[in-house]
Amino acid sequence: MDVEGAPEAGEAVQVLRRVFGYDAFRGSQQEIIEHVIGGGDAVVLMPTGGGKSLCYQIPSLVRSGVGVVISPLIALMQDQVDALRALGVRAGFLNSTQDLEERRLVEAEFLSGELDLLYLAPERLRVEQTLSLLDRGKISLFAIDEAHCVAQWGHDFRPDYLALSMLHERWPEVPRIALTATATEATHSEISSRLRMADARHFVASFDRPNIQYRIATKSDPKRQLLELLRGEHPGDAGIVYCLSRASVEKTAQFLVDNGIEAVPYHAGLDARTRAANQARFLREDGLVVVATIAFGMGIDKPDVRFVAHLDLPKSVEGYYQETGRAGRDGQPSTAWLAYGLQDVVQQRKMIDGSEGDEAHRRRLSAHLDAMLALCETVQCRRVRLLAYFGQESTPCGNCDTCLAPPQTWDGTVPAQKLLSTVVRLQRERGQKFGAGQLIDILMGKKTAKVIQFDHDQLSVFGVGADLREAEWRGVVRQLLAQGLIAVEGDYGTLVLTDTSGEVLRGAREVPMRREPEKPARAARSKSS
Ligand code: ADP
Ligand code: ZN
Repeated sequence: MDVEGAPEAGEAVQVLRRVFGYDAFRGSQQEIIEHVIGGGDAVVLMPTGGGKSLCYQIPSLVRSGVGVVISPLIALMQDQVDALRALGVRAGFLNSTQDLEERRLVEAEFLSGELDLLYLAPERLRVEQTLSLLDRGKISLFAIDEAHCVAQWGHDFRPDYLALSMLHERWPEVPRIALTATATEATHSEISSRLRMADARHFVASFDRPNIQYRIATKSDPKRQLLELLRGEHPGDAGIVYCLSRASVEKTAQFLVDNGIEAVPYHAGLDARTRAANQARFLREDGLVVVATIAFGMGIDKPDVRFVAHLDLPKSVEGYYQETGRAGRDGQPSTAWLAYGLQDVVQQRKMIDGSEGDEAHRRRLSAHLDAMLALCETVQCRRVRLLAYFGQESTPCGNCDTCLAPPQTWDGTVPAQKLLSTVVRLQRERGQKFGAGQLIDILMGKKTAKVIQFDHDQLSVFGVGADLREAEWRGVVRQLLAQGLIAVEGDYGTLVLTDTSGEVLRGAREVPMRREPEKPARAARSKSS
């Protein structure tokens, strides 16, 4: 170990108190910080809000030289740097939003050792100028934030991150710390291999967020359901509502405002000023609701977000976990609520089918969606499933919708067979493919215009499923999709058989299903307690 640079015992704690004003480290922060101060490499997996930033900020302050932080969150660099400067930390950043003069200034500060921390956008490292700049200064460590961006398997891949493997080759003596809130085994091992961090020590924090109550509801009238949640359980609370499209962001925000809830929209289509203003209001004010696309939230540090609601199905469990993780950073009870329906599945399959990239890429997207669907349709504790996805074993939590109101299960084998054989008949006898709506109308024996038009009331299966409600049929379709027993394809969301459909048709496989609630389950938690 470099004796000269070796810190006195407890220096990290002193910096924590003196600079950041906190009493004690959380979780494994101290271990991580001391490891990096000692010159070791570290891979840190810690949930959002766990306190990753200090893990590289404090070593940067204690070690001599400048801590170089690579972060894709360009929009937040100014805020991060301002916040550090307010604490007396000498921080600066280099990214594409600056003009030449601003950049020169930061470069000069870096070279003369007037910085403790330098934030860099990853694409800066593709520029030889930046590399030679770094060569001329003294670097105390490299921090690779949002390290999951290096994983092609992951949900947030950024090609610029692949180049980060050269940090080690070019500056072998500089310790590196890679940090992420995404921790599936696959992403984890990709981080190690792509960043050449096989010898790094790994610090894996628990991913459980016990104060977050996870709930996944069947979508019927999503805006109304949302309003009921906000009025019933979160009046006057700050929260985030995620929607898939800009249009639905706008519509939902307006709907909430019309219903007396203070809400603002946030999406990439708004001009930068409006976006910044809405974000600033959210951070500053109590009880504002931001309705946003997933463009909102990365790196946003507001402790008292009381709920995160999803009106559309997230594309992956990682995304869902990160977005919901923005609730309850202060440890107080918070709600993660998601409404999802059959249409979400159809829409996302369509987006995957139409996405750019090769077949392998589409397969990855599909696998992410399947895992998300399985979480939605599980009859087990949501948290157990969620943590299992991140490789952690746990026992039923008592604080999620399935624990609070255990879903009834029923044997859906016969309805599944009816639905699948309708698909088969249409295909074989008529060469036709249809979406869920038409199939359900046929099964329920509804003589709609479209049923008459195609003579579907003449099919032998017409009306054989009149014993189930429409919501139940939609549940059957969703659960068959989630279990991979049927698939949806094409622009019209037509349903087709999969390799395993035959097992159900032959009676070789049972299909247990989650019962559709008569009324959406309400959680047992009162505001006043
Ligand atoms: P992450 O990057 O893991 O999402 P942050 O580094 O932004 O988390 O930390 C989340 C919040 O917790 C911040 O407000 C931070 O100041 C606070 N925090 C981190 N470590 C401590 C600590 N040891 N004591 C008190 N607050 C802490
Ligand atoms: Zn549970």
